[in-house]
Amino acid sequence: MKKVDRRKFIRNVFAYNTTLILGANIIGACSKEVLGSPYESELEYLPIQYDNPAISLNMNKCEECGDCIEACAEKQRVFGTYTASPANHVCIHCGTCIMKCEEGALTAKPHWQEVLHAIDDPSKIVIVSVSPAVRVGIGDYFDMDEGSFLIENIIGSCRAAGFDYVLDTNFSADLTIMEEAYELQKRIQENTLIPQFTSCCPAWVKYVEIFYPSLLDYLSTVRSPIGMQGSLVKSYFAQNKGLDPNSIIHVALAPCSAKKYKITRGELTTDGLPSNDIVITTKELALLLKSRNIDLTAQSGSFDSLMGAASGAGIIFGNTGGVMRAALRTAYFNITGTNPPATLLELQEIQGLSGLKQATVTIGEKVLKVAVCYEMRSAELLLDQLKNGSCSYDFIEVMACKGGCVGGAGQPTTNNVIEKRIRSLNTADKEAKTRYCHENSEITAIYHDFLGEAGGPTAKKYLHTTYNDKSYLL
Ligand code: SF4
Ligand code: SF4
Ligand code: SF4
Repeated sequence: MKKVDRRKFIRNVFAYNTTLILGANIIGACSKEVLGSPYESELEYLPIQYDNPAISLNMNKCEECGDCIEACAEKQRVFGTYTASPANHVCIHCGTCIMKCEEGALTAKPHWQEVLHAIDDPSKIVIVSVSPAVRVGIGDYFDMDEGSFLIENIIGSCRAAGFDYVLDTNFSADLTIMEEAYELQKRIQENTLIPQFTSCCPAWVKYVEIFYPSLLDYLSTVRSPIGMQGSLVKSYFAQNKGLDPNSIIHVALAPCSAKKYKITRGELTTDGLPSNDIVITTKELALLLKSRNIDLTAQSGSFDSLMGAASGAGIIFGNTGGVMRAALRTAYFNITGTNPPATLLELQEIQGLSGLKQATVTIGEKVLKVAVCYEMRSAELLLDQLKNGSCSYDFIEVMACKGGCVGGAGQPTTNNVIEKRIRSLNTADKEAKTRYCHENSEITAIYHDFLGEAGGPTAKKYLHTTYNDKSYLL
Protein backbone atom coordinates (compact mmCIF):
# COMPACT_ATOMS: atom_id res chain seq x y z
CA MET A 1 0.00 0.00 0.00
CA LYS A 2 1.37 3.37 -1.00
CA LYS A 3 2.31 5.83 1.70
CA VAL A 4 0.26 8.98 1.44
CA ASP A 5 0.60 12.32 3.14
CA ARG A 6 -2.99 12.35 4.41
CA ARG A 7 -3.23 16.04 5.19
CA LYS A 8 -1.71 16.99 1.84
CA PHE A 9 -4.06 14.62 0.03
CA ILE A 10 -7.11 15.95 1.82
CA ARG A 11 -6.16 19.54 1.06
CA ASN A 12 -5.62 18.68 -2.61
CA VAL A 13 -8.87 16.77 -3.02
CA PHE A 14 -10.88 19.35 -1.15
CA ALA A 15 -9.35 22.22 -3.12
CA TYR A 16 -10.23 20.39 -6.32
CA ASN A 17 -13.77 19.71 -5.18
CA THR A 18 -14.29 23.30 -4.14
CA THR A 19 -14.13 24.22 -7.80
CA LEU A 20 -16.98 21.81 -8.42
CA ILE A 21 -19.58 23.14 -6.03
CA LEU A 22 -22.75 23.37 -8.03
CA GLY A 23 -24.50 25.75 -5.68
CA ALA A 24 -27.01 23.11 -4.62
CA ASN A 25 -29.15 24.14 -1.70
CA ILE A 26 -29.71 20.88 0.04
CA ILE A 27 -30.70 20.36 3.62
CA GLY A 28 -29.53 17.14 5.15
CA ALA A 29 -26.79 15.71 7.23
CA CYS A 30 -26.23 12.92 9.69
CA SER A 31 -25.33 15.05 12.65
CA LYS A 32 -27.79 15.14 15.51
CA GLU A 33 -27.32 18.90 15.50
CA VAL A 34 -28.98 19.14 12.10
CA LEU A 35 -31.48 16.37 12.83
CA GLY A 36 -32.65 18.34 15.83
CA SER A 37 -33.71 21.28 13.69
CA PRO A 38 -34.28 20.33 10.08
CA TYR A 39 -35.11 23.88 8.98
CA GLU A 40 -32.02 25.28 10.61
CA SER A 41 -29.78 25.80 7.65
CA GLU A 42 -29.34 25.27 3.99
CA LEU A 43 -25.98 23.65 3.63
CA GLU A 44 -23.87 23.54 0.55
CA TYR A 45 -22.65 20.04 -0.09
CA LEU A 46 -19.92 18.96 -2.35
CA PRO A 47 -19.24 15.36 -3.18
CA ILE A 48 -16.19 13.48 -1.96
CA GLN A 49 -15.66 13.34 -5.70
CA TYR A 50 -17.98 15.51 -7.77
CA ASP A 51 -19.90 12.64 -9.35
CA ASN A 52 -20.06 10.30 -6.35
CA PRO A 53 -23.70 9.16 -6.28
CA ALA A 54 -23.68 8.14 -2.63
CA ILE A 55 -21.36 10.25 -0.46
CA SER A 56 -21.31 13.99 0.19
CA LEU A 57 -18.77 16.16 1.94
CA ASN A 58 -19.49 19.39 3.81
CA MET A 59 -16.26 21.36 3.69
CA ASN A 60 -17.46 23.72 6.40
CA LYS A 61 -17.32 20.92 8.94
CA CYS A 62 -14.12 19.17 7.84
CA GLU A 63 -11.17 19.41 10.23
CA GLU A 64 -8.78 17.66 7.81
CA CYS A 65 -8.03 14.97 10.40
CA GLY A 66 -7.68 12.20 7.79
CA ASP A 67 -9.60 9.57 9.79
CA CYS A 68 -11.90 8.90 6.83
CA ILE A 69 -9.01 8.08 4.53
CA GLU A 70 -7.39 5.87 7.13
CA ALA A 71 -10.61 3.88 7.64
CA CYS A 72 -11.07 3.52 3.88
CA ALA A 73 -7.55 2.15 3.50
CA GLU A 74 -7.45 -0.12 6.55
CA LYS A 75 -10.97 -1.53 6.74
CA GLN A 76 -12.08 -1.51 3.13
CA ARG A 77 -8.73 -1.76 1.30
CA VAL A 78 -9.75 0.89 -1.22
CA PHE A 79 -7.74 4.03 -0.59
CA GLY A 80 -4.04 3.42 -1.24
CA THR A 81 -4.61 0.57 -3.71
CA TYR A 82 -4.85 2.82 -6.76
CA THR A 83 -3.06 5.86 -8.07
CA ALA A 84 -4.71 8.57 -6.00
CA SER A 85 -4.96 12.06 -7.36
CA PRO A 86 -7.45 14.88 -6.91
CA ALA A 87 -9.16 13.79 -10.12
CA ASN A 88 -9.12 10.05 -9.38
CA HIS A 89 -10.77 8.67 -6.27
CA VAL A 90 -12.04 5.11 -6.50
CA CYS A 91 -14.98 4.44 -4.18
CA ILE A 92 -17.24 1.47 -3.37
CA HIS A 93 -19.73 3.79 -1.57
CA CYS A 94 -19.69 1.73 1.65
CA GLY A 95 -19.81 4.81 3.89
CA THR A 96 -17.12 3.58 6.29
CA CYS A 97 -15.61 7.06 6.02
CA ILE A 98 -18.95 8.55 7.10
CA MET A 99 -19.04 6.39 10.20
CA LYS A 100 -15.51 7.48 11.08
CA CYS A 101 -16.05 11.23 10.64
CA GLU A 102 -16.77 12.65 14.08
CA GLU A 103 -17.34 16.12 12.64
CA GLY A 104 -20.34 15.04 10.55
CA ALA A 105 -18.60 16.43 7.46
CA LEU A 106 -19.27 13.26 5.45
CA THR A 107 -22.83 12.04 4.91
CA ALA A 108 -24.81 9.84 2.61
CA LYS A 109 -25.99 12.09 -0.23
CA PRO A 110 -29.39 13.41 0.88
CA HIS A 111 -32.52 12.68 -1.18
CA TRP A 112 -35.34 12.95 1.35
CA GLN A 113 -36.61 16.25 -0.02
CA GLU A 114 -37.09 14.60 -3.42
CA VAL A 115 -39.34 12.12 -1.65
CA LEU A 116 -41.42 14.92 -0.14
CA HIS A 117 -41.78 16.55 -3.56
CA ALA A 118 -43.02 13.24 -4.98
CA ILE A 119 -45.48 12.81 -2.09
CA ASP A 120 -46.82 16.32 -2.68
CA ASP A 121 -47.29 15.64 -6.42
CA PRO A 122 -50.82 14.21 -6.90
CA SER A 123 -49.84 12.62 -10.20
CA LYS A 124 -47.36 10.30 -8.45
CA ILE A 125 -48.00 7.05 -6.61
CA VAL A 126 -45.29 6.94 -3.97
CA ILE A 127 -44.44 3.51 -2.58
CA VAL A 128 -41.89 2.90 0.15
CA SER A 129 -40.22 -0.42 0.99
CA VAL A 130 -38.55 -0.81 4.38
CA SER A 131 -35.25 -2.71 4.75
CA PRO A 132 -34.68 -4.98 7.76
CA ALA A 133 -32.04 -2.95 9.64
CA VAL A 134 -33.98 0.34 9.57
CA ARG A 135 -36.50 -1.01 12.09
CA VAL A 136 -33.83 -1.45 14.78
CA GLY A 137 -31.99 1.83 14.05
CA ILE A 138 -34.54 4.62 13.75
CA GLY A 139 -35.49 4.69 17.45
CA ASP A 140 -32.21 6.42 18.39
CA TYR A 141 -33.53 9.61 16.76
CA PHE A 142 -36.71 9.55 18.83
CA ASP A 143 -35.16 8.90 22.26
CA MET A 144 -36.22 5.27 22.34
CA ASP A 145 -34.13 2.41 23.71
CA GLU A 146 -31.24 1.50 21.41
CA GLY A 147 -32.06 -1.48 19.20
CA SER A 148 -35.84 -1.13 19.70
CA PHE A 149 -37.79 -3.07 17.05
CA LEU A 150 -40.10 -0.41 15.62
CA ILE A 151 -41.61 -1.68 12.41
CA GLU A 152 -45.22 -0.78 13.27
CA ASN A 153 -44.14 2.76 14.19
CA ILE A 154 -42.25 3.11 10.90
CA ILE A 155 -45.24 1.92 8.85
CA GLY A 156 -47.63 4.26 10.65
CA SER A 157 -45.22 7.18 10.28
CA CYS A 158 -44.78 6.55 6.56
CA ARG A 159 -48.55 6.53 6.09
CA ALA A 160 -48.83 9.77 8.11
CA ALA A 161 -46.14 11.32 5.87
CA GLY A 162 -48.26 10.55 2.80
CA PHE A 163 -46.79 7.42 1.19
CA ASP A 164 -49.50 5.65 -0.80
CA TYR A 165 -48.29 2.11 -0.04
CA VAL A 166 -45.86 0.73 2.54
CA LEU A 167 -44.19 -2.58 1.70
CA ASP A 168 -41.63 -4.82 3.37
CA THR A 169 -38.24 -5.32 1.70
CA ASN A 170 -38.03 -8.47 3.84
CA PHE A 171 -40.55 -9.98 1.42
CA SER A 172 -37.85 -9.73 -1.25
CA ALA A 173 -35.23 -10.91 1.22
CA ASP A 174 -37.28 -14.13 1.34
CA LEU A 175 -37.32 -14.20 -2.46
CA THR A 176 -33.56 -13.62 -2.58
CA ILE A 177 -33.13 -16.73 -0.47
CA MET A 178 -35.47 -18.81 -2.62
CA GLU A 179 -33.34 -17.97 -5.66
CA GLU A 180 -29.97 -18.11 -3.95
CA ALA A 181 -30.62 -21.47 -2.28
CA TYR A 182 -31.70 -22.88 -5.66
CA GLU A 183 -28.56 -21.46 -7.30
CA LEU A 184 -26.31 -22.94 -4.60
CA GLN A 185 -27.91 -26.37 -4.90
CA LYS A 186 -27.44 -26.31 -8.69
CA ARG A 187 -23.79 -25.25 -8.48
CA ILE A 188 -23.07 -27.98 -5.93
CA GLN A 189 -24.78 -30.63 -8.05
CA GLU A 190 -22.89 -29.50 -11.16
CA ASN A 191 -19.67 -28.95 -9.17
CA THR A 192 -19.10 -25.56 -10.74
CA LEU A 193 -18.35 -22.00 -9.52
CA ILE A 194 -17.87 -23.05 -5.91
CA PRO A 195 -17.63 -21.17 -3.59
CA GLN A 196 -20.76 -19.16 -4.26
CA PHE A 197 -20.53 -15.62 -2.87
CA THR A 198 -23.59 -13.68 -1.73
CA SER A 199 -24.28 -10.56 -3.78
CA CYS A 200 -26.71 -8.41 -1.79
CA CYS A 201 -24.15 -5.82 -0.64
CA PRO A 202 -23.47 -3.42 -3.53
CA ALA A 203 -20.23 -2.15 -1.99
CA TRP A 204 -18.89 -5.72 -1.95
CA VAL A 205 -20.05 -6.34 -5.53
CA LYS A 206 -18.31 -3.19 -6.76
CA TYR A 207 -15.17 -4.18 -4.85
CA VAL A 208 -15.01 -7.49 -6.75
CA GLU A 209 -15.74 -5.73 -10.04
CA ILE A 210 -12.82 -3.34 -9.49
CA PHE A 211 -10.22 -5.42 -7.69
CA TYR A 212 -11.00 -9.10 -8.53
CA PRO A 213 -12.84 -9.09 -11.88
CA SER A 214 -11.57 -12.57 -12.76
CA LEU A 215 -13.71 -13.93 -9.89
CA LEU A 216 -16.99 -12.25 -10.85
CA ASP A 217 -18.59 -15.54 -11.96
CA TYR A 218 -18.43 -16.76 -8.36
CA LEU A 219 -20.87 -14.07 -7.22
CA SER A 220 -24.47 -15.20 -7.01
CA THR A 221 -26.41 -13.64 -9.90
CA VAL A 222 -29.37 -13.01 -7.58
CA ARG A 223 -30.35 -9.35 -7.10
CA SER A 224 -30.36 -7.89 -3.63
CA PRO A 225 -33.72 -7.59 -1.85
CA ILE A 226 -33.99 -3.90 -2.84
CA GLY A 227 -33.15 -4.72 -6.47
CA MET A 228 -35.92 -7.33 -6.57
CA GLN A 229 -38.40 -5.26 -4.62
CA GLY A 230 -38.20 -2.37 -7.08
CA SER A 231 -38.63 -4.57 -10.13
CA LEU A 232 -41.63 -6.39 -8.62
CA VAL A 233 -43.31 -3.17 -7.42
CA LYS A 234 -43.36 -1.93 -11.02
CA SER A 235 -44.54 -5.23 -12.48
CA TYR A 236 -46.31 -7.74 -10.19
CA PHE A 237 -47.57 -5.23 -7.62
CA ALA A 238 -48.62 -2.62 -10.21
CA GLN A 239 -50.52 -5.24 -12.27
CA ASN A 240 -52.36 -6.62 -9.26
CA LYS A 241 -53.29 -3.21 -7.84
CA GLY A 242 -54.19 -1.68 -11.21
CA LEU A 243 -51.43 0.96 -11.05
CA ASP A 244 -49.58 2.60 -13.96
CA PRO A 245 -45.89 1.74 -13.47
CA ASN A 246 -44.96 5.05 -15.13
CA SER A 247 -46.62 6.95 -12.28
CA ILE A 248 -44.92 4.98 -9.51
CA ILE A 249 -42.05 6.43 -7.53
CA HIS A 250 -40.51 3.56 -5.61
CA VAL A 251 -38.55 4.66 -2.56
CA ALA A 252 -36.18 2.21 -0.87
CA LEU A 253 -35.72 2.98 2.82
CA ALA A 254 -32.34 1.52 3.69
CA PRO A 255 -29.58 1.66 6.32
CA CYS A 256 -27.05 2.13 3.58
CA SER A 257 -25.16 4.68 1.48
CA ALA A 258 -24.12 2.13 -1.15
CA LYS A 259 -27.73 1.52 -2.22
CA LYS A 260 -27.77 5.11 -3.49
CA TYR A 261 -25.03 4.10 -5.91
CA LYS A 262 -26.64 0.76 -6.61
CA ILE A 263 -29.85 2.18 -8.10
CA THR A 264 -27.76 4.06 -10.67
CA ARG A 265 -26.54 0.74 -12.13
CA GLY A 266 -27.96 0.30 -15.62
CA GLU A 267 -28.58 -3.44 -15.11
CA LEU A 268 -31.31 -2.81 -12.53
CA THR A 269 -34.21 -1.75 -14.71
CA THR A 270 -37.70 -3.21 -15.12
CA ASP A 271 -39.31 -3.20 -18.55
CA GLY A 272 -37.41 -0.01 -19.43
CA LEU A 273 -38.08 1.77 -16.11
CA PRO A 274 -35.64 2.17 -13.22
CA SER A 275 -36.55 -0.46 -10.61
CA ASN A 276 -35.93 1.95 -7.75
CA ASP A 277 -36.27 5.72 -8.04
CA ILE A 278 -34.95 7.07 -4.74
CA VAL A 279 -33.04 5.61 -1.80
CA ILE A 280 -33.25 7.31 1.58
CA THR A 281 -31.46 6.24 4.71
CA THR A 282 -32.70 5.72 8.26
CA LYS A 283 -31.30 9.14 9.10
CA GLU A 284 -33.14 10.73 6.20
CA LEU A 285 -36.44 9.18 7.30
CA ALA A 286 -35.92 10.86 10.68
CA LEU A 287 -35.33 14.19 8.92
CA LEU A 288 -38.38 13.70 6.72
CA LEU A 289 -40.65 12.88 9.66
CA LYS A 290 -39.36 15.74 11.80
CA SER A 291 -39.83 18.19 8.92
CA ARG A 292 -43.53 17.22 8.92
CA ASN A 293 -43.82 17.15 12.71
CA ILE A 294 -44.57 13.43 12.77
CA ASP A 295 -43.72 11.71 16.05
CA LEU A 296 -42.66 8.18 15.19
CA THR A 297 -43.39 6.96 18.69
CA ALA A 298 -47.09 7.87 18.38
CA GLN A 299 -47.70 6.07 15.05
CA SER A 300 -48.65 2.49 14.26
CA GLY A 301 -49.63 0.52 11.16
CA SER A 302 -49.29 -2.69 9.16
CA PHE A 303 -47.86 -3.43 5.71
CA ASP A 304 -49.92 -3.53 2.52
CA SER A 305 -50.59 -6.99 1.15
CA LEU A 306 -48.93 -8.84 -1.77
CA MET A 307 -45.40 -7.71 -0.79
CA GLY A 308 -45.77 -7.11 2.92
CA ALA A 309 -45.28 -10.53 4.51
CA ALA A 310 -41.91 -11.98 5.47
CA SER A 311 -40.46 -14.89 7.39
CA GLY A 312 -37.89 -14.71 10.18
CA ALA A 313 -35.30 -15.65 7.57
CA GLY A 314 -35.94 -12.35 5.78
CA ILE A 315 -35.76 -10.39 9.02
CA ILE A 316 -32.21 -11.53 9.90
CA PHE A 317 -30.84 -10.26 6.57
CA GLY A 318 -29.75 -7.14 8.45
CA ASN A 319 -27.27 -9.11 10.61
CA THR A 320 -23.84 -10.44 9.76
CA GLY A 321 -24.39 -14.16 9.05
CA GLY A 322 -28.11 -13.60 8.52
CA VAL A 323 -28.16 -14.16 4.77
CA MET A 324 -26.13 -17.33 5.19
CA ARG A 325 -28.38 -18.67 7.98
CA ALA A 326 -31.47 -17.89 5.94
CA ALA A 327 -30.11 -19.52 2.78
CA LEU A 328 -29.01 -22.69 4.57
CA ARG A 329 -32.50 -23.13 6.06
CA THR A 330 -34.08 -23.28 2.62
CA ALA A 331 -31.18 -25.17 1.01
CA TYR A 332 -31.67 -27.82 3.73
CA PHE A 333 -35.38 -28.02 2.94
CA ASN A 334 -34.78 -28.19 -0.81
CA ILE A 335 -32.26 -31.00 -0.48
CA THR A 336 -33.81 -33.12 2.29
CA GLY A 337 -37.52 -32.27 2.05
CA THR A 338 -37.68 -31.37 5.76
CA ASN A 339 -36.93 -28.23 7.76
CA PRO A 340 -33.55 -28.13 9.51
CA PRO A 341 -32.80 -28.91 13.16
CA ALA A 342 -32.51 -26.09 15.74
CA THR A 343 -28.70 -26.05 15.60
CA LEU A 344 -28.79 -25.11 11.94
CA LEU A 345 -31.51 -22.53 12.49
CA GLU A 346 -29.28 -20.59 14.86
CA LEU A 347 -25.80 -21.56 13.60
CA GLN A 348 -24.08 -19.74 16.44
CA GLU A 349 -20.61 -20.17 14.86
CA ILE A 350 -21.39 -17.57 12.20
CA GLN A 351 -23.08 -15.03 14.46
CA GLY A 352 -21.43 -12.15 16.32
CA LEU A 353 -18.92 -9.38 15.79
CA SER A 354 -15.91 -11.27 14.53
CA GLY A 355 -14.84 -10.08 11.08
CA LEU A 356 -14.42 -13.61 9.71
CA LYS A 357 -16.40 -16.65 10.92
CA GLN A 358 -16.79 -20.17 9.60
CA ALA A 359 -18.86 -23.29 10.14
CA THR A 360 -19.28 -26.81 8.78
CA VAL A 361 -22.83 -27.87 8.01
CA THR A 362 -24.21 -31.28 7.07
CA ILE A 363 -27.17 -31.31 4.71
CA GLY A 364 -28.29 -34.81 3.77
CA GLU A 365 -25.14 -36.54 2.56
CA LYS A 366 -23.38 -33.29 1.74
CA VAL A 367 -20.96 -31.56 4.10
CA LEU A 368 -20.70 -27.83 3.38
CA LYS A 369 -18.00 -25.46 4.61
CA VAL A 370 -19.27 -21.91 4.89
CA ALA A 371 -17.71 -18.57 5.81
CA VAL A 372 -19.16 -15.19 6.81
CA CYS A 373 -17.22 -11.94 6.84
CA TYR A 374 -17.60 -8.19 6.90
CA GLU A 375 -15.30 -5.38 5.72
CA MET A 376 -13.15 -5.88 2.65
CA ARG A 377 -10.02 -6.55 4.69
CA SER A 378 -11.62 -9.88 5.68
CA ALA A 379 -13.01 -10.60 2.23
CA GLU A 380 -9.57 -10.00 0.72
CA LEU A 381 -8.20 -13.04 2.59
CA LEU A 382 -10.86 -15.30 1.06
CA LEU A 383 -10.53 -13.85 -2.43
CA ASP A 384 -6.77 -14.33 -2.39
CA GLN A 385 -7.30 -17.98 -1.34
CA LEU A 386 -9.69 -18.44 -4.24
CA LYS A 387 -7.24 -16.87 -6.66
CA ASN A 388 -4.37 -19.12 -5.56
CA GLY A 389 -6.54 -22.24 -5.51
CA SER A 390 -6.49 -22.88 -1.76
CA CYS A 391 -10.08 -21.87 -0.92
CA SER A 392 -12.01 -24.72 0.67
CA TYR A 393 -15.38 -23.05 1.27
CA ASP A 394 -18.62 -23.82 -0.53
CA PHE A 395 -20.63 -20.71 0.30
CA ILE A 396 -19.42 -17.29 1.53
CA GLU A 397 -21.37 -14.27 2.78
CA VAL A 398 -19.69 -10.87 2.51
CA MET A 399 -20.97 -7.52 3.80
CA ALA A 400 -19.07 -4.24 3.82
CA CYS A 401 -20.27 -2.92 7.17
CA LYS A 402 -19.33 -4.03 10.66
CA GLY A 403 -22.04 -6.38 11.93
CA GLY A 404 -23.79 -6.31 8.53
CA CYS A 405 -26.44 -3.78 7.49
CA VAL A 406 -27.37 -3.00 11.12
CA GLY A 407 -24.04 -1.12 11.13
CA GLY A 408 -24.66 0.65 7.81
CA ALA A 409 -23.61 4.24 7.19
CA GLY A 410 -27.22 5.43 6.94
CA GLN A 411 -27.92 4.37 10.52
CA PRO A 412 -27.45 6.45 13.68
CA THR A 413 -23.84 6.27 14.76
CA THR A 414 -24.32 5.67 18.46
CA ASN A 415 -21.43 3.67 19.89
CA ASN A 416 -21.70 -0.01 20.87
CA VAL A 417 -25.26 -0.37 19.67
CA ILE A 418 -24.68 -2.92 16.91
CA GLU A 419 -25.01 -5.95 19.21
CA LYS A 420 -28.35 -4.65 20.51
CA ARG A 421 -29.64 -4.29 16.95
CA ILE A 422 -28.44 -7.82 16.11
CA ARG A 423 -30.21 -9.24 19.17
CA SER A 424 -33.38 -7.38 18.30
CA LEU A 425 -33.54 -8.82 14.74
CA ASN A 426 -32.76 -12.31 16.10
CA THR A 427 -35.63 -12.03 18.57
CA ALA A 428 -37.99 -10.96 15.80
CA ASP A 429 -36.87 -14.01 13.78
CA LYS A 430 -37.67 -16.34 16.70
CA GLU A 431 -41.08 -14.73 17.17
CA ALA A 432 -42.01 -14.70 13.47
CA LYS A 433 -45.04 -16.64 12.23
CA THR A 434 -42.63 -18.76 10.21
CA ARG A 435 -38.82 -18.80 10.14
CA TYR A 436 -38.61 -20.19 6.59
CA CYS A 437 -39.05 -18.19 3.42
CA HIS A 438 -40.42 -21.27 1.64
CA GLU A 439 -43.36 -21.17 4.10
CA ASN A 440 -44.21 -17.49 3.44
CA SER A 441 -47.65 -17.59 1.75
CA GLU A 442 -46.97 -14.40 -0.26
CA ILE A 443 -43.81 -16.02 -1.63
CA THR A 444 -45.71 -19.16 -2.62
CA ALA A 445 -48.32 -16.93 -4.29
CA ILE A 446 -45.88 -14.88 -6.35
CA TYR A 447 -44.17 -18.01 -7.73
CA HIS A 448 -47.56 -19.50 -8.54
CA ASP A 449 -49.10 -16.37 -10.08
CA PHE A 450 -46.17 -14.53 -11.64
CA LEU A 451 -42.63 -15.89 -11.41
CA GLY A 452 -43.04 -19.58 -12.20
CA GLU A 453 -40.14 -21.76 -11.01
CA ALA A 454 -37.13 -20.54 -9.00
CA GLY A 455 -34.35 -19.96 -11.52
CA GLY A 456 -36.85 -20.04 -14.41
CA PRO A 457 -37.03 -17.44 -17.22
CA THR A 458 -39.39 -14.97 -15.48
CA ALA A 459 -37.48 -15.26 -12.22
CA LYS A 460 -34.25 -14.62 -14.16
CA LYS A 461 -35.73 -11.51 -15.74
CA TYR A 462 -36.97 -9.87 -12.53
CA LEU A 463 -34.76 -11.35 -9.84
CA HIS A 464 -31.28 -11.77 -11.30
CA THR A 465 -28.60 -9.42 -12.61
CA THR A 466 -25.18 -9.23 -14.28
CA TYR A 467 -21.81 -7.74 -13.29
CA ASN A 468 -19.05 -5.93 -15.15
CA ASP A 469 -15.28 -5.76 -14.97
CA LYS A 470 -14.50 -2.31 -13.54
CA SER A 471 -10.74 -2.73 -13.17
CA TYR A 472 -10.36 0.15 -15.65
CA LEU A 473 -11.06 2.46 -12.69
CA LEU A 474 -7.67 1.61 -11.17
S1 SF4 B 1 -12.90 12.33 8.88
FE1 SF4 B 1 -14.28 14.07 8.53
S2 SF4 B 1 -13.21 15.80 9.44
FE2 SF4 B 1 -11.69 14.18 9.19
S3 SF4 B 1 -10.76 14.58 7.16
FE3 SF4 B 1 -12.43 13.14 6.86
S4 SF4 B 1 -14.16 14.46 6.31
FE4 SF4 B 1 -12.66 15.79 7.27
S1 SF4 C 1 -17.41 5.27 0.82
FE1 SF4 C 1 -16.05 3.55 1.34
S2 SF4 C 1 -14.72 3.34 -0.45
FE2 SF4 C 1 -15.70 5.35 -0.64
S3 SF4 C 1 -14.25 6.78 0.28
FE3 SF4 C 1 -15.68 6.16 1.91
S4 SF4 C 1 -14.67 4.40 2.92
FE4 SF4 C 1 -13.66 4.71 0.95
S1 SF4 D 1 -23.38 -4.16 4.50
FE1 SF4 D 1 -25.48 -3.49 4.13
S2 SF4 D 1 -25.51 -1.34 4.79
FE2 SF4 D 1 -23.35 -1.89 4.52
S3 SF4 D 1 -22.84 -1.28 2.40
FE3 SF4 D 1 -23.46 -3.44 2.36
S4 SF4 D 1 -25.67 -3.42 1.88
FE4 SF4 D 1 -25.10 -1.34 2.58
